[in-house]
Amino acid sequence: MRSLFERNIRDLKGVGEKRAKLFAKLGAPTVGALLRLYPRAYEDLSSPYPIRLAPLNEPCAIRATVLERPTETRIRAGMMICKVKVTDGESDMELTYFNNPYIPSMLKADEEYVFYGKVTANFLKREMTTPEFVRAEVCPPVRPIYRQTQGLTSRMIENAVRSAFDLLPDRIRDPIPEKIREKYGLCPLRDALENIHLPQDMAAVETARKRLIFEELLILQLGLLRLKGRSRVVSPLSLEHDRSEVFYGLLPFEPTQAQRRAVNEAVADMKSGFPMNRLIQGDVGSGKTAVAAALCFCAVADGMQAALMAPTEILAQQHFASLSALLRDMRVALLTGSMPAAKKREVLQGLLTGEIQLVIGTHALLSEGVAFQRLGLVITDEQHRFGVAQRAALASKGDHPHMLVMSATPIPRTLALMIYGDLDISILDELPPGRQKIDTYAVTSDKRLRAFRFIQKHIDEGRQCYIICPMIDEGQNDMASVNEYAEKVRNEWLRGYPIGVLHGKMKPKEKEAVMADFSQGKIAVLISTTVVEVGVDVPNAVVMLIENAERYGLSQLHQLRGRVGRGQYKSTCILISDAQNEETVTRLKTMCATNDGFQIAEQDLKLRGPGDFFGHRQHGLPDLKIADMIHDMDLLKEAQSVAQGILNEDADLELPQHRGLRAEVKQLFENMTD
Ligand code: ADP
Ligand code: MG
Repeated sequence: MRSLFERNIRDLKGVGEKRAKLFAKLGAPTVGALLRLYPRAYEDLSSPYPIRLAPLNEPCAIRATVLERPTETRIRAGMMICKVKVTDGESDMELTYFNNPYIPSMLKADEEYVFYGKVTANFLKREMTTPEFVRAEVCPPVRPIYRQTQGLTSRMIENAVRSAFDLLPDRIRDPIPEKIREKYGLCPLRDALENIHLPQDMAAVETARKRLIFEELLILQLGLLRLKGRSRVVSPLSLEHDRSEVFYGLLPFEPTQAQRRAVNEAVADMKSGFPMNRLIQGDVGSGKTAVAAALCFCAVADGMQAALMAPTEILAQQHFASLSALLRDMRVALLTGSMPAAKKREVLQGLLTGEIQLVIGTHALLSEGVAFQRLGLVITDEQHRFGVAQRAALASKGDHPHMLVMSATPIPRTLALMIYGDLDISILDELPPGRQKIDTYAVTSDKRLRAFRFIQKHIDEGRQCYIICPMIDEGQNDMASVNEYAEKVRNEWLRGYPIGVLHGKMKPKEKEAVMADFSQGKIAVLISTTVVEVGVDVPNAVVMLIENAERYGLSQLHQLRGRVGRGQYKSTCILISDAQNEETVTRLKTMCATNDGFQIAEQDLKLRGPGDFFGHRQHGLPDLKIADMIHDMDLLKEAQSVAQGILNEDADLELPQHRGLRAEVKQLFENMTD
């Protein structure tokens, strides 16, 4: 049975080499993968409407007979139009097709068809434009609609699926054990696949969906719980002493209650005898770095090595600068991809011998040559930029090290608990004292000069500012590229002020130099693309001006705004946009109305929909095919408890009834692309 699933898609009738390539592009190189390519919607053809009663302007099915042989007319060069009159015996309707020479031979006079599409109406008649159709005699009750790609229509996919079912035996192996299926009322895999693709009615789709969603979430939760592995492994490196109070003495400020709580929770984990697996969630500016530093301090003082991974070079540099200054008695090193080979070798050597106690770096930390002597603590900053697999890759460089991930992407707590099924959570729900609310204004571009006068006033008082403008390689002429824009600022809007430019195409060394100048106040205004989006911390910067604000999503705007308001000064965010569409207006209004990252995340979810929100890999989890973590919360909870139950009984999924699950878990996590 496995063998059919693994068979090349080319083995199906009607799939040649060219089409097989297109299927592969869709993610279906094998028959099994094709059957896991679920329809995105359905045409319900089971109870067609009479013409007179059809709802207007929404897709529906109509059963009608063609009155006379359709004829084609040329309306202008390259444009043929074909009108078809149909009747249901009571009323008539007119169908229109464009540039489709096959219509006259496909739609025969006096034959009955089911048409599917939107009906429109005027005083005189009802019409449909380019409806789909099937001969009534052979019309299936429900038709699947697949996501298509260039060259591969929904119909072609449907046909391939049909021929796959012709080959499929009646019984196939089901990864979900029968006992669990029975208990939760889930149908067998064979039925589920058949009904998700070629259902008899919409109720059958629902039954199939429930089963497939459950399966997907169960496999996800199994994978996550296994990554966590907390129930099985005893930590070889348990923390002996809590030296966080000593660390607080090094800080130039008092930690907030929230920071203390997070540190305490993490220290308790590290002392527990089991590996820590904790997520620290805190809005931008809540002071996550200090929490990370406290834990590195404790780990290193206890004789472990610690690693801190950041998503960008700029951020890694910044963490390195601040932590090496703070932890002066410890040996701290930086490791990034752009470092000279000799320097890199030196760091690798130091890690191997254990001489380097804390390493801060980018993805470079994941590379093969990196090995530790005694890695005890792994911290990932801005974790939404990394995948679960990367987190695991870094952890595998030690023997079950303690893991901490930090994220500013605020997800409602209950949801976070579900999707980060493998993590414990601490929340920094308090900003450091003395922070003032960031005032946010949305203005049109004719107010730009006023905005620059405002910036000038702040620079004259010794403060600094950010200006975000669109990507450098953005060819569109209405959007200034960073360099051109910077010229304008230098020559017209802020003459005589020190201005720096930062964009993704610059060499790491150049970026570093600009960032250093900005941190040290040598640059008053930093004109940048969104490369400063995450983590950058310059408390003296008080104005964030964002050009073409309509181009960014809410969460991104919030992250960018979070670059200011980090010190004791009143800060301001100015969003410039001339876009008038409703969605943009709502987004900018939300930014002006609140500084609360959690509220913004919720609004973002509403505006973009969960698919999109999570589709952007905000969570670093594998892509899901059918489940939707927000709408399927109840099933998610159920799946989580079933997964826990299975692992309690069979931690390595070695029992014969769990082998199917094990294979699926392996596949889901291997297929993660980042
Ligand atoms: P984020 O949570 O966004 O990563 P950071 O760790 O970069 O925030 O901290 C933001 C700023 O607040 C930094 O300049 C940091 O030095 C400062 N900070 C952190 N904790 C405190 C505190 N308890 N009191 C005062 N300032 C703090
Ligand atoms: Mg940070």
